[in-house]
This record gives sequence, structure tokens and C-alpha cells, in this order.
Amino acid sequence: MSRNADPLEILFAAAKAAQANAHAPYSNFRVGAALRTPEGALFCGGNVENAAYPEGWCAETSAIAAMAAAGARKIAEICVIGDGEALCTPCGGCRQRIREFADDRTIVHVAGPEGVRATFRLSALLPESFGPGHLRP
Ligand SMILES: [Zn+2]
Repeated sequence: MSRNADPLEILFAAAKAAQANAHAPYSNFRVGAALRTPEGALFCGGNVENAAYPEGWCAETSAIAAMAAAGARKIAEICVIGDGEALCTPCGGCRQRIREFADDRTIVHVAGPEGVRATFRLSALLPESFGPGHLRP
């Protein structure tokens, strides 16, 4: 990475590094996620599988947990990386987890090993979604 790497390259590199540390001994499908807050802070995480399969969780969940632990509460953009030919888009549960900390501008980048493959607004991946505003009439 060059000293003047663009912000998306940095986000992608952080997601790729988290992917390398994912704990995926059962599926062997490592996923990494890195998110940026509006203030520019980066948080990342990988999927963490468990011998008791349902107890594992997704990379996006790890990154969001790291963000929340640091006291941040907004996602400006998130990059998710997985191997294979298909787009490694966030699962339904993670779309909702991202939604909790998203606004109308929140961006989801989907990457493969070579780089970002597609970019979406969260609102396109989770249309007509339920969010915190529904609980504040
Ligand atoms: Zn997920």
C-alpha cells in the first residue's frame, strides 16, 4: 500500500487482513470486513466459526462489535471480502446489523481477492428496512 493510498484501498486492505485472520476451520470460507465511521475511524473483523456450528458469526458482526466497543455508532461505508466467483454480499442478518448503524448514504463494497467488485447503498441491499427510527415515533 502506498503512503497516499486512496481511502477505499485502505478499507479493502483492512478487510483483506481481517479475512486472513478469520477463524473458519469448518467451512474454510474466510470472510473479512472493514468499516469506516464518518469520523474516519476503521474497524475490522473476520468470521469466527465454532465447533457448535450455530455459535459462529459473520465478519461484519465482528467489525460492528469492534466499532461499538470503541464507542462509535455510525457506519459510513463497509467493505466485505470473500473468495470465490460469486459476490460475497452480507447475509440477511448482517444487512440488518449494518442497518442499525447506517443512514441513507451508507455504502457496502463487496470484494474478492483482487479488489472491490461491486458497490451498493445499504438501502438497495435492504429496501424498506426496519430501523431505530421505527422505535422513536
Ligand atoms: Zn452475516
